[in-house]
Amino acid sequence: MKSFEEYERLAEQAHGHMCAGQVLGLRMALYGLKLLGIEDPTGKDRKRLVTYVEIDRCVTDAIPVVTGCRLGKRALKFRDFGKVAATFCDLQADRAFRVVARDSSKERARAMYPHIESRNEQQMRAYREMPDAELFDAKAVRVSIGPEDLPGYKGARAVCSRCGEGVNFRREIVLDGAVLCRACAGETYYEAVE
Ligand SMILES: [Zn+2]
Ligand SMILES: [Zn+2]
Repeated sequence: MKSFEEYERLAEQAHGHMCAGQVLGLRMALYGLKLLGIEDPTGKDRKRLVTYVEIDRCVTDAIPVVTGCRLGKRALKFRDFGKVAATFCDLQADRAFRVVARDSSKERARAMYPHIESRNEQQMRAYREMPDAELFDAKAVRVSIGPEDLPGYKGARAVCSRCGEGVNFRREIVLDGAVLCRACAGETYYEAVE
C-alpha cells in the first residue's frame, strides 16, 4: 500500500482535480480493503477484488486508484443507485463489505473547521482526519457474481438477429426464439436519427 499523500497525488492526476470527493473515495476504498484484510490490491491480491460503485460522481474516480479495480478489467461495476456507497468483494474468501458514506460527515467537517470558508477545503481537511467509523457505515453483505460477470470470463459471442451487432458476456436476450441485443429487445437508451 502507498502513503495517503501518494494516493492523493494519483487521484488528482486520474480525476483532473483535487476535491473532497477524492479524499472520501480514497478513505472509502482503504476502509473496504481493511475490512477484507486485503493488503496488496494491485500486486499479489489483484485478482481477488471486484468493486461495485453506486454513484457516478467524484468519489467514484478515487476508488480504482486504491483498489486497482477498473471498468475495462471488469473488476469495477456500476449500479446507478445515486448513493455514495461501494461494495468491496473478495472473490477468494467469498466475502464482501458494503461501505456507505454517512450524511453526518459534512456537518462534522463544518464543526471541525468552522474557520475554513471553502466547503471543499473544509471537507478535505476533515475527511483526511476523521476515523473510519465517523465517516462510514459498513456492513458485511453477500454478492452473487455470475461467472459471466467475472474478469476473465470466456464465452460464446452472440449476434443480434435484428441489428447484426455482436453481443458478449451473455448479454443477449432470447425473445420468441430470436436472439436479440438489449437495444433491439427494447432496453435501448438511444434512438436513430435519420
Ligand atoms: Zn472532484
Ligand atoms: Zn440488436
